Amino acid sequence: MKQHFDIVIVGGGIIGCAIGYYLAKENTSVAVLESQSIGGKSTGAAAGMLGAHSEYKEFKQLYPFARSSQLLYQELYDEIKELTGIDFEMKRGGLLKLAFSASEKEEMASIYKLPAIEWLNREEAKEKVSTLTTSIIGAAFLKEDVHVTPIAVCNGFSTGAQTLGAEIFEYTNVSEITKQDSQYKIKTSRGDFTAAQVVIASGVWSNYFFQNMGLTNRIIPVKGECIAAMNEEIPLKHSIFHDQHYIVPRNNGQLIIGATKKWNDWNEKPTLEGIESVIKKAKEMIPAIKDMKMTNCWAGLRPQTFDGNPFIGEHPEMKGIYFAAGHQRNGILLAPATGKMVRDLLLGNPVDKKWIEAFKVERSISKST
Ligand code: FAD
Repeated sequence: MKQHFDIVIVGGGIIGCAIGYYLAKENTSVAVLESQSIGGKSTGAAAGMLGAHSEYKEFKQLYPFARSSQLLYQELYDEIKELTGIDFEMKRGGLLKLAFSASEKEEMASIYKLPAIEWLNREEAKEKVSTLTTSIIGAAFLKEDVHVTPIAVCNGFSTGAQTLGAEIFEYTNVSEITKQDSQYKIKTSRGDFTAAQVVIASGVWSNYFFQNMGLTNRIIPVKGECIAAMNEEIPLKHSIFHDQHYIVPRNNGQLIIGATKKWNDWNEKPTLEGIESVIKKAKEMIPAIKDMKMTNCWAGLRPQTFDGNPFIGEHPEMKGIYFAAGHQRNGILLAPATGKMVRDLLLGNPVDKKWIEAFKVERSISKST
């Protein structure tokens, strides 16, 4: 088994696999080491909304990066399908962000200035989704906040990377990374690997490496609980969103209904109270969901940073060690742009200084605000 690579990526969630994919496209020698199965953690728990407009209230900071990533999905869909045969189900119905009061409509004022956004009054919104609650005053229609099936995107990236020559090692836990001459030794449950450059993309578990490598910043888990219900009753092609809760229709007839936000909760099992609260929120949006049959429930840990930006960049002292973690609620959306940015950092290609500064791993609260 080959155990030396130019680049080793630690973590096979959507971020690690996206980086592996974009590096493999450049013919680099690259491996992804995943302690469990590809996409089995936060990535597998996600709803898959590409919410460049629904997720942000302020459109100066992260928005241009998020929007560029959202647009990358357009070309990625065909590219991945052609290369791997994987259809990650880009559902193009867009998203209705509901307003129950004039103040909620006003809170969304900044998005109306952006392209592809339309305000719908209650009757117009109900023309799109007749089963919406009558309690709304209207909804912002975000045409380009489409959604994908996250585990399929992640599998598309990893299979695509493999097809292009990368190696993916599942059930390979990384326990230690140390400098050895001019390269790094990566100690794993499958023996030692070596590489000149290492990317830590282990989601919320990147904390372990932050700590071991002398970095003071941390990633906090924000647990999200979701359910899936079988929808045979109502035609729904748009995602419905309110107050960070959502109903997302999948191609297979399932609705993904989520999600709670439980700060600093490391337990990956859903609770009855959490599930009850997402059902209550969903019924406020579409009362008819109460009769649907629940098929599954789960929880995942969103990797949260102190200022809302991910950590993407090189360790300040350990040259050749990079981090790409902390994408919180938007890792699916941000994966293509992150994959490209890390590729460019590692290969010495030009990278926008604004993003290098905003995502620096050693930034502090005062520097970033
Ligand atoms: P992960 O997917 O957690 O991957 C990290 C991987 O690293 C894991 O597979 C883990 O096993 C591995 N690992 C950890 N330690 C080691 C080690 N020592 N050695 C080897 N491997 C290791 N985002 C969106 O854009 N849109 C959404 O609609 C959306 N909905 C969400 C809903 C929920 C309920 C949740 C929980 C999240 C949602 N997100 C959404 C956020 C998104 O899921 C995350 O931001 C994204 O998955 C983070 O990807 P990641 O690769 O950094 O982390």
